[in-house]
Amino acid sequence: MTARRDGRAADQPRPISIEPGFVRTATGSALISVGETRVICTASVQESVPGWMRGRGRGWVTAEYGMLPASTGERKPREITRGRADGRGVEIQRLIGRSLRGVVDFGRLGERTIYIDCDVLQADGGTRCAAITGGMVALRLAVADLLGRGLLEHSPLIGSVAAISAGVVDGVPLLDLDYSEDSRAEVDANVVMTADGGLVEVQATAEGTPLSRTHLDDLLALAEVGVARLRVAQDGAAPAAA
Ligand code: UDP
Repeated sequence: MTARRDGRAADQPRPISIEPGFVRTATGSALISVGETRVICTASVQESVPGWMRGRGRGWVTAEYGMLPASTGERKPREITRGRADGRGVEIQRLIGRSLRGVVDFGRLGERTIYIDCDVLQADGGTRCAAITGGMVALRLAVADLLGRGLLEHSPLIGSVAAISAGVVDGVPLLDLDYSEDSRAEVDANVVMTADGGLVEVQATAEGTPLSRTHLDDLLALAEVGVARLRVAQDGAAPAAA
């Protein structure tokens, strides 16, 4: 059994905290900390939808993701300075958008767009999962604001999602990898789950050794444990809308 750097058990997630309302100017916001990983998530509402969706009475939810320059050990230049989009960031923001859209009824949302912006303050592995988990809280808070102002009659949220990583390191399945574990994992998986245990998306990548079916089951079982903990933190930060 490999000892983990921070002494955690294999099925133990990192400490989680979610501070709601971290950005006062946003309709909904949260600062999520998962161990040393910290991500600011905001939800901003725009009273229109992209052109191709207009006139159908349906809304949209989309996400953007970025890492602040000092969020990593070596300074990460901003995309605007590099003059091109970062492929990893584009992949991650599409995952965040898909995950959150999975629990929204667009008819109930009406013709408006909710932008979920996720900015990594500090990265130590699992930033996309933290962004999804914190983004869900920001989305709940934005919906609560719209309901409170009478702009929505019923909540468009038909469920809840949270995400956590799990991986195989030195042959051992571990929950919630930090960067030191992620960087030497044989298998790295990101699991997005609904509150009732449904899988929204599973990204599992095996480097070197292919992933066995048994290990995949182990990783999904670990993720289920982790997501249950995340859900408690989410509900504490922003109650699920009625
Ligand atoms: N990372 C980094 N610079 C980068 C990309 C990643 O330092 O440009 C680090 C960071 O700690 C990140 C980790 O590598 O959390 C794992 O990155 P990955 O692409 O697997 O995404 P994540 O686990 O953050 O969702």
